[in-house]
Amino acid sequence: MKHESPTAGSRCLADDDGQIVSSSVDLPRIERAVREILAAVGENPDREGLLETPARVARMYAELFSGLSQDPREHLQKFFIEKYDEIVLVRDISFNSMCEHHMLPFMGRAHIGYLPNGRVIGLSKLARVVEVVSKRPQVQERMTEEIANLLVEELDAKGVAVVIEATHSCMAIRGVRKPGSVCVTSAMKGVFRANLSSRSEVMTLIYGNSLGSRS
Ligand SMILES: [Zn+2]
Repeated sequence: MKHESPTAGSRCLADDDGQIVSSSVDLPRIERAVREILAAVGENPDREGLLETPARVARMYAELFSGLSQDPREHLQKFFIEKYDEIVLVRDISFNSMCEHHMLPFMGRAHIGYLPNGRVIGLSKLARVVEVVSKRPQVQERMTEEIANLLVEELDAKGVAVVIEATHSCMAIRGVRKPGSVCVTSAMKGVFRANLSSRSEVMTLIYGNSLGSRS
């Protein structure tokens, strides 16, 4: 079954797996821009090795920015009513995103925990939300907040904890050149913000026994 993305102005079609079939990304425009960049850095965009590059980069950007034409809320509409009042946690959701300051990738893992308030969603939906939010020009701090706020709003959860660990190419290959450094961001909502023991419970679930060695 195909369905239209509800995002305004989008012509994006996604199948049931959320895979982009066609997107509203303007491929020829990206191709022209990439040719322009190649010429601007002193390359010859017409030499054989570079002939296909603009089209290839355009297709890649359509994939990397596919989240712009999708609404992550879509994945949070089907929930189950369950009397489960313990923490639900999905750890190590791998993702890659694009730093909006340098247009270079950052990649890592997201850990999402929530304390349900009657509404429980399928675990894979959390990974879907990460996927949509990460496939946009991003900064890690905002991405962390966005995911947490989405869960608070759509699930009415008693608490939401999102922790993201990522390495940034823009720190590894340029500027301070510190490959291997990991940036950790967290967003704590509801009881995880208000209550220290709830927060340490969810952090222990996320990091397990390795917490001490990571500090
Ligand atoms: Zn950057």
